[in-house]
Amino acid sequence: MTTWQDEASRDLLNLGGRLALLVRGEGSHVWDADGTRYLDFLGGIAVNALGHAHPVFVDAVSRQAATLAHVSNYFATPQQLELAARLKRLAGTGERGHVFFANSGSEANETAIKLARLHAHKTGKRTIVSLNGAFHGRTMGSLSLTPKPLYQDPFQPLLPDVAHIDPTIEALEAGIDDTVAALVVEPVQGEAGVVPLPDGFLKRARELTTAHGALLIVDEVQTGVGRTGEWFAFQREGIVPDAMSLAKGIAAGFPLGALVTFGDHDLFFPGTHNSTFGGNPLATAVGSAVLAEIEDTGLLQNVTDRGAQLRAAVEGLPLVTGTRGAGLLIGMTLSAPVAGEVRDAAQRRGLIVNAPTADVIRIAPAYTIGDAEVDEFTTLFSAALSEVAASDMKDNA
Ligand code: PMP
Repeated sequence: MTTWQDEASRDLLNLGGRLALLVRGEGSHVWDADGTRYLDFLGGIAVNALGHAHPVFVDAVSRQAATLAHVSNYFATPQQLELAARLKRLAGTGERGHVFFANSGSEANETAIKLARLHAHKTGKRTIVSLNGAFHGRTMGSLSLTPKPLYQDPFQPLLPDVAHIDPTIEALEAGIDDTVAALVVEPVQGEAGVVPLPDGFLKRARELTTAHGALLIVDEVQTGVGRTGEWFAFQREGIVPDAMSLAKGIAAGFPLGALVTFGDHDLFFPGTHNSTFGGNPLATAVGSAVLAEIEDTGLLQNVTDRGAQLRAAVEGLPLVTGTRGAGLLIGMTLSAPVAGEVRDAAQRRGLIVNAPTADVIRIAPAYTIGDAEVDEFTTLFSAALSEVAASDMKDNA
C-alpha cells in the first residue's frame, strides 16, 4: 500500500526518505497527519521564535493580508520603513545604516556577496574569505562560501576569488591581507554542530579587516534576532560589523531575509539589486510584530534563562559529554557518533531535535518555552538517550 510518506518522498524534490507529515502547530507542539503530538525543539531550524500559531503572528498576518499584501518596489510602504527603523535601532547601525529586504538567508547572503563585489571593484581587492565549517546557504553565491564537498562538488564551478580559512585566530592573522575584499563569518556555526567562534575571534577579525580595508560581514541568519539571548550575537563581542545578514527568526515563520549595513555603504543604487517579493508589506509587518513582541515582553531574558536551565538539565545524561552555543541555540556533544539514532529515538517518543553532525544534537526551541516544556524535553530526551546508550552497549557486547 502506498502511504502518504511514500507520496511525499516521491513528490518533493528536496528530500529523500520518509517524511513525517506535519499538519498543525500550537505553542511548542506540532501534530502529524496521524494525530501524533511532538514537542518541537527544533523550531523550523531556529525560525519559530514565538512558537506555532502565536496570536501576535496570526493577527499580524491576517490584519496585513486584509489591508495590503503586496506592492511592487517602485513604492515604499510603512511596514518596510517601520521594520527597517526597528532593525537599525536594535542593531545600533546609527543613521547611516541601511536595510535591504530579501526572502531567505541565502538571498540575504547573496546581497552581502554583491556588496563585497562592489567593495572589491571600488578598492581593487579580489577575495571573499569565509571559514571552514561555515554554512551560508545553497544558492550559487552563498554555496561558494559554504566549503563542504558534499554540497559544492556537484555544482562546480562556483564563484571565483573565494578563499576559506580555519576558524582560528592564527588562520585569521595569516589569511587577512590587502587582497581581501570581505570576510564573512557566523558568530556560532550552527550547521557545523553549534560551534561558537573562539574567544576574541570577532574582535581580531574586526581589527584585521579594518587595517586591510576589507568588509567584515556577519551571517546572523541563525544567531540573530534574539536566538542567543542578545539581539544579535556580534553585540556580545563589542564589535560593529560592516554588514549583517538575517532571516529565520526575523519573522518567526514568514519568509523574510535582510541585509543590514553599518556605516557608509551606499553602494547599491536603483537597478543594481532588487527582488520582487523582498520587503513586501505582509512579510515586513509580521517582522515588526515579532520583534515588538520579543522586545515588549522581555523574551531575551527568557532565552538566556531557559538556555542555562536546559544546559544544566542535560549535563550528566547518558551519552552527553557537554553542551555549547548560546541562549536557545544549543549543541549537545555525544560520546559516540550516534546523533542520528538519538534524533530518531527522540522522534519516536514525540520530540523533535536534529543532528547537524554525527555526534551533535541541536536544539533551537521557541523563545517562549517555560518550565513545562523544559521538563517535557528533559524526560523525552533522557529516555531517547538511554535507549540508544543501551542498544550501543548491546552492539558492543
Ligand atoms: N546562513 C546560515 C548561518 C544558516 O544557518 C542558514 C540556514 N541554515 C542560511 C544562511 C541559509 O538560509 P536559508 O535556508 O533561509 O536560505
